[in-house]
Amino acid sequence: MEFRMNVIESAQSVDEFTPIRTLGHGDMGTVYLAKHMTSGKPVAMKVMSKELMQKKRSHKRAWMEKEILQKLDHPFLPKLFTKFESKNHSFLLMSYCSGGDLNTLRQRQKDRKFSESAARFYAAEVVLALEYLHQHGILYRDLKPENILLQADGHIMITDFDLSLMINNSQESRAKDSYRDQNGSCKKKTKSFLAKLNPGHVGAKDCMNASAMITTKQDDSAKETSFCHLDGRKESVYEQAHSFVGTEEYVAPEILWGKGHGIAVDWWAFGVLLYEMVYGKTPFKGCNRKETFYNILCKEPPQLSEHSSPLKDLLRRLLVKEPTLRLGFNSGAQEIKNHEFFEGVRWDELEYVSRPPFVPPPFSFEHSRIVMDDSVHTIEMFENF
Ligand code: ADP
Ligand code: MG
Repeated sequence: MEFRMNVIESAQSVDEFTPIRTLGHGDMGTVYLAKHMTSGKPVAMKVMSKELMQKKRSHKRAWMEKEILQKLDHPFLPKLFTKFESKNHSFLLMSYCSGGDLNTLRQRQKDRKFSESAARFYAAEVVLALEYLHQHGILYRDLKPENILLQADGHIMITDFDLSLMINNSQESRAKDSYRDQNGSCKKKTKSFLAKLNPGHVGAKDCMNASAMITTKQDDSAKETSFCHLDGRKESVYEQAHSFVGTEEYVAPEILWGKGHGIAVDWWAFGVLLYEMVYGKTPFKGCNRKETFYNILCKEPPQLSEHSSPLKDLLRRLLVKEPTLRLGFNSGAQEIKNHEFFEGVRWDELEYVSRPPFVPPPFSFEHSRIVMDDSVHTIEMFENF
């Protein structure tokens, strides 16, 4: 098994793979199911057109996604086997999830809701994945059921890192240089951003919290070196964390306020996700984008005031508009793990649970070929790379 994975890791060209079917289209390209010919293993192959990236000016996002994927080593996060490029395309080869996504699975449940225990299981796995990301200085920023895939054994895998933001320690020295290049007004903005982001944490040595990591750096001799140096270009965490990111219904109020954001946005989206899993719909959805945003900013989530339960209490604490008061802001994932809703969860053993709520049918390429409807198209695409 290990040997076979190593073979995939050494693959250097698209010719070493057979296309099977299209898995999905996204902002940044198309993801295919492909078979690695030497090992016979399935892989998810994300293909991005260089021309399109240039047109959409999305090469920085693609670069960030690649950087992040390379760092990940967690059972609920994708493994990047290898990456390569052809003249016109960029390829990422990742572990394949055969169980579809959590949104599709929820739609198939009675009343389109998960039972509380199924929701608890998926939510607990998401908490562990977010905890790992935050500990590694990564804001995920696009948590939603469509981005939570199910692996062959029924455990989750969070995918799609092109909206994520990394605050990388190893980039500190380069960041210092880029910081020196910035003008004074930007320095000021960064300072106020840091203060607003996590005022209670200035000088804290709590690296569990990505925003605290920024403030820690501010207090260190490096002074405000909180720039995420992308692709050699000048771009600051300030700029990145002030732009609109995410998906409408999961977006945190502070993102709409546009005054900077930190890891609390992931805990907000986690609250929306948990709410949706148990109530069958997201809490702030309006008739249109404007109404949804209004609800996010001004309305309390429905159904949480009647009666009380550990679940409702957790949701109320996660869906707090003010990020500094939100569960997870002060001590990260541990605050969520300690909540009564998760009482009895054996966090260290979660990845070994042998019977998750839904285990996909065994994967076979033959079945994949039968169900695919665009095989010819896919093969033609592959020939063009
Ligand atoms: P983009 O960044 O271009 O939006 P995504 O990473 O969101 O691309 O992938 C697009 C779709 O491809 C996803 O919605 C999902 O359905 C599918 N997909 C992505 N990665 C995998 C994977 N590892 N295994 C199975 N399907 C995947
Ligand atoms: Mg996407």
